[in-house]
Amino acid sequence: MQAGIRGHDTEHMLRVLLSVANFATLLQESEVRPIELTIGDVIGWIEQLAPRDLAEEWDAVGLQIGDPRAPVRRVITALTLTSNVVEQAKAFGAQLIVAHHPLIFRPLKSIQHRTRVGSIVTALIKNDIALYAAHTNLDAAVGGVNDGLANRLGLVEVEPLVPAAHLRRYKLVTFVPVEHEAEVRDALAEAGAGIIGNYSHCAFSTQGWGSFKPLAGADPYIGEVGKVEQVQEVRLEMVVDHHARERVIDALWKAHPYEEVAYDLYPIEGGRSRAGLGRIGRFPEPMALSDFLAHVADALLLDDVRLAGASKEKVQRVAVVGGSGGSFVTRALQLGADVLITGDVDYHDADEARHGGLLVVDAGHFGTEKHVPHDLKTYLDAEAGRRGATLHVQVAGEEDAFWQVKSSERERC
Ligand SMILES: [Zn+2]
Repeated sequence: MQAGIRGHDTEHMLRVLLSVANFATLLQESEVRPIELTIGDVIGWIEQLAPRDLAEEWDAVGLQIGDPRAPVRRVITALTLTSNVVEQAKAFGAQLIVAHHPLIFRPLKSIQHRTRVGSIVTALIKNDIALYAAHTNLDAAVGGVNDGLANRLGLVEVEPLVPAAHLRRYKLVTFVPVEHEAEVRDALAEAGAGIIGNYSHCAFSTQGWGSFKPLAGADPYIGEVGKVEQVQEVRLEMVVDHHARERVIDALWKAHPYEEVAYDLYPIEGGRSRAGLGRIGRFPEPMALSDFLAHVADALLLDDVRLAGASKEKVQRVAVVGGSGGSFVTRALQLGADVLITGDVDYHDADEARHGGLLVVDAGHFGTEKHVPHDLKTYLDAEAGRRGATLHVQVAGEEDAFWQVKSSERERC
């Protein structure tokens, strides 16, 4: 008996040891074989943040160079693609550069090594580095360039300066067995349905009876072939942005228990889009001009800023446009902004602002967009982390090397 017990114990121990050994092998294998990402996977994440249909018509966004099926482990994020950024990508061993400004903008008639674009295109192809550009779609995106600016400045009640009018919205209605409602609703919300203002997971449901008769060849989840079935179901309604439509329908099919999923997608009028160009919001309290200027310099890590337009003693309502935003002076005035913070403000924009009574802070094109590669890295790191995938993302070291201010040596009299 004793021996029997010992024999049993030994067998049990052996089994435990074997399963520990198996587990160790599995662990080793999973270390050797982490989740392999393709450039297409990373593009999918970026387009979830900045859908391509948010881009302006004249823009050139998307994969500019490379193969979406190629594997990727290292990514460089950059504002503008320069030969210096390409050198950094080579040194880092990157397979992909994600840049805000497109490199290839107009159709290229030739790729010559001596031109700026030609030399960069050649270097990228030679080194097998893909290039993806997220430009005006990232400007307009929720959580994109302008939300990044507004967040850094600490603005509240932030809305698009020019809402994306072409961003269509839909009402998704689907019918789910009662016990599956929460699961389907959560899956739809995770895919981007049910976002209204600052609220996610917005849904409405009512109970009723659904009926159906499975026909020959069907494999019904409930009921049997040839018999009319009545099931207590929930009519679940959620709003869906156009760009999230495919992802949401895909999630619906995956989460819904039925073989055939009944759903309707109605286009809806009205409703404010959270995406669009520029942002307008306010500081919680009015700020004296000198405090405001110090705050802008701190928030955007700037040594100095240029002022134009009308002077103000205090500011509270603030419009921001990353990059070149001089043409938004009129719009900022229409929405009652005290100040517009942007870059590339020209003589006529400044004149328009002065005439309308708007203060303009020209913080520079670079100054209002240099946060973009950092925000892209944060986003990609989070997406990779969520999936347990290994992706090394590095922000390119870039400087605003275009403009310098030098005092004239000329004697003044
Ligand atoms: Zn720009």
